[in-house]
Amino acid sequence: MEILVVVALLVLVVGGGAAFVGLRRSRSITVEPPPLPKAPPVITPTPEAPPRERVPEPAPVPEPEPVPEPEPVPEPEPEPVPEPEPEPVRPKATFRERLGRARGAMSGYMGSILSRTTIDASTWDDLEEALIRADVGIGVTTDILDRLRATVSSRTITDPAVLLEALKDQLKDDLRSGDRALRFEPGAPNVWLFVGVNGVGKTTTIGKVGKRQADEGRTVVMAAGDTFRAAAAEQLETWAERVGAELVRGAEGGDPSSIIFDAVQRAAARGKDLVLADTAGRLHTKVNLMEELSKVRRVADRDPGKVTEVLLVLDATTGQNGLVQAQQFTEAVDLTGVVLTKLDGSAKGGIALAIQSTLGIPIKLVGLGEQAEDLIDFDPDAFIDALFDAA
Ligand code: GDP
Repeated sequence: MEILVVVALLVLVVGGGAAFVGLRRSRSITVEPPPLPKAPPVITPTPEAPPRERVPEPAPVPEPEPVPEPEPVPEPEPEPVPEPEPEPVRPKATFRERLGRARGAMSGYMGSILSRTTIDASTWDDLEEALIRADVGIGVTTDILDRLRATVSSRTITDPAVLLEALKDQLKDDLRSGDRALRFEPGAPNVWLFVGVNGVGKTTTIGKVGKRQADEGRTVVMAAGDTFRAAAAEQLETWAERVGAELVRGAEGGDPSSIIFDAVQRAAARGKDLVLADTAGRLHTKVNLMEELSKVRRVADRDPGKVTEVLLVLDATTGQNGLVQAQQFTEAVDLTGVVLTKLDGSAKGGIALAIQSTLGIPIKLVGLGEQAEDLIDFDPDAFIDALFDAA
């Protein structure tokens, strides 16, 4: 029986299934398949890019600076014209400071005279030797001492110190004679001629005188009349520039008279006060030189010029030789004064006394060095004091 039940069940199961399949086929029911789950989006992987080199971040471009408004261009200041360097102001030279050599020569004798208590023969010997050694010359020394003896006896001087004071007073009086001022006449151009042998200091003296005159307010023309010395005109040109003077020069070896004539014409045309004229100190012969100087003087004195000074320049170191020169020049031109140069050098000073008493020409100026300030007026008192005072 059991077997029958199982078979029956089997028949039922199999028959049911078949009936179901047939049913399905007979009805043609389209059964929609359940929707497939959505496929995930296909992502095609991009091939990995090779690691790129790290490019440094570009520097941040700075904000452009605001362009400032152009500054108004200031009017260019005119270049300040440099003031000409003022020449250093040097003190004027003094006898006391510059007469070193001459003072030294005198002081030994003065000390010896003052060391004695009375005036005796040795006193007079010392005085004579002192004056001769100082370049006073024998003749002038004898004359000086004769007059001093007369004073000693008239004043009964017994003290050597008083004797020396009497000597100094006498010498100062001698040197004071004559007019030592430089002559200048307003109106026509004044001409000052400078004469003297080569090398005594004519050109330098003209430069120094020009400086002094310009400082005093006079307008100056310099005439390079020494056409025989090549360097003289250049030397004078340098001085003229320093002084602010005009220079008239000619060809080397040219005629000095015509240069001086031109200088006078120029001075007159331009209303200048003063012509300072250099002259030759050497010509082929002494006669030539003296004739030339006479001619220069005549030409310079022609209208519109007026010669108011003819100054003989003498080198004090040449001693008694200077006297001989002075005499020769006096014969050629009328000298109005002497400029005694180089008293600062090895000069012994006594030549000043010899010039004054032999020639009777006043010493007007003295050179105590090469600079402009080293030309001073001749002051007899200061000169004699500096010469005789030991201190
Ligand atoms: P010149 O030939 O007569 O014109 O003479 P210079 O004027 O050329 O002078 C000749 C030299 O003497 C130059 O070296 C000047 O500097 C110099 N000299 C001129 N005067 C003086 C002075 O007073 N003292 C000194 N120590 N030298 C002077």
